[in-house]
Amino acid sequence: MASAKYIFVSGGVTSSLGKGIISASLAKLLQARGFSVTIQKFDPYINIDPGTLNPYEHGECYVTDDGAETDLDLGHYERFLNVPTSQANNVTTGRIYHSVITQERQGAYLGKTVQVIPHITDEIKRRMLLLGQTGEFDVVITEIGGSVGDIESLPFIEAVRQLRWELNPNDSVVIHLTLLPYLKAAGELKTKPTQHSVKALSESGVQPDILVCRSEYPIPAEMRKKIALFCNVAPNAVIESLDAETIYDVPLLMKKEKLDERVIKKLKLTSKQEVNLDSWKEFLGRLKNPTEEVKIALVGKYVELPDAYKSIIESFIHAGAFNECKVKLKFIQSEFITAENVHTHLEGMDAVLVAPGFGERGFEGKLEAIRYVREGQIPFFGICLGMQTAAVEFARNVLGLQDAASTEMNPSTPHPVIDMMEEQKSITQKGGTMRLGSYACDLKRGSKAYQAYGKGHIFERHRHRYEFNNKYLQAFEEAGMHATGVNPDTGLVEVIELQHHPWFVAAQYHPELKSTVLNPHPLFVRFIKAAITYSKNRNK
Ligand code: GLN
Repeated sequence: MASAKYIFVSGGVTSSLGKGIISASLAKLLQARGFSVTIQKFDPYINIDPGTLNPYEHGECYVTDDGAETDLDLGHYERFLNVPTSQANNVTTGRIYHSVITQERQGAYLGKTVQVIPHITDEIKRRMLLLGQTGEFDVVITEIGGSVGDIESLPFIEAVRQLRWELNPNDSVVIHLTLLPYLKAAGELKTKPTQHSVKALSESGVQPDILVCRSEYPIPAEMRKKIALFCNVAPNAVIESLDAETIYDVPLLMKKEKLDERVIKKLKLTSKQEVNLDSWKEFLGRLKNPTEEVKIALVGKYVELPDAYKSIIESFIHAGAFNECKVKLKFIQSEFITAENVHTHLEGMDAVLVAPGFGERGFEGKLEAIRYVREGQIPFFGICLGMQTAAVEFARNVLGLQDAASTEMNPSTPHPVIDMMEEQKSITQKGGTMRLGSYACDLKRGSKAYQAYGKGHIFERHRHRYEFNNKYLQAFEEAGMHATGVNPDTGLVEVIELQHHPWFVAAQYHPELKSTVLNPHPLFVRFIKAAITYSKNRNK
């Protein structure tokens, strides 16, 4: 059968235990031993993908090179591993049912009754094995979303049970993540919820090999033994996972706990090289010993839920560390910004980022923020809707086109400086129909973007329906706003930059989706540099 080894990661007791970070950390440790690893996430919800979900529901929607709209955990996988993911790395219950029902309509089941077992579980298993069969990976880590015991997770757990039975005993391992709550009144950690969740998993026929126990306090040796005994795992397979200062510490914490050693022993793997985490440690060193500090405002409309801007926040961490600079982010709800109060919101900021987004709410506030930084010569970075807003602001306040707008906000504007792409106009379906995934972009020599990337031909990821309207390009350029990044195949504007400004750069694409620990994104790196310079000049 498959040549790859499979690691399944389930979770119990509560959600938000950080299965994604544990999976990514384990993958990092295996990668550091020379294995090629990928991580995939199986999510139990019925949406075909998270593309149609409001960010308040499920955080940011992460987009892959091949244009898949995916769970934000895929962002962690890429940031930790520095290896791109794809459509195959995120599968939902909705997608599984969609394929099974489509096949049923095509008559593929030859008159059989189509059932959860075996048809749904077969489809789950097929997809769980897919990446392992490409021959590209030594190890495939599969994170099962949701918590053990939920009705909707059951088919996934059953698929894991069957696969473990089908695969050779040393070809798979199950890691179960649980919580040891601390009861203040009793003054101790409690193991019962862990016991219950392992019991629930075992009742479904899956006995975990390793338990990773999230805890706010160190787990005493006696307690580890007790957990091992009652949960039927080896005593050294109870791994402690304490709250970390940063998620990027977790690989080292897991290494200390020997999670990777337990796994390779169980899978009978031999390391291909001495563990090499040098560049990771170097990054942590820079992250934890900053010599500079800047304050940057993140203006958006989903700021109450920072997960909605996960990749942007992480990009600041990577690029901040690169610059040995601590970036203090101030989240500002754009809905509350007005022409009258914008200065109180942005006072003291060394730079401002206007975030991606959809719809009208908070749009006017973003315009005010951009006007403030454009006029005040404060470094500005606009992403996707942030770029479109910068174009509208410039059209209104510099070109004097009074009601200039994006047709997303005002379909009958006399000056549609941002307009829907022609091929989008006939699309009525919502899911997966935006301009998605990686596209080429040519950068103008001498521009700030070119300086940042150090080259003129780049690829970046997209997720939008609207575009800069090239009818206005000449007027923009004549007034000092230049299109410095253009798609070579379509002529669509990808980057705009303001002349006579220390750093005013806005991108139609999403640079934050390609920033990783080892490759901080050049635009974030330069934006932070501009913020440092601004802050120094201000404090002179
Ligand atoms: N709403 C805008 C569009 O669809 C911008 C999207 C975004 O910021 N991701 O074009």
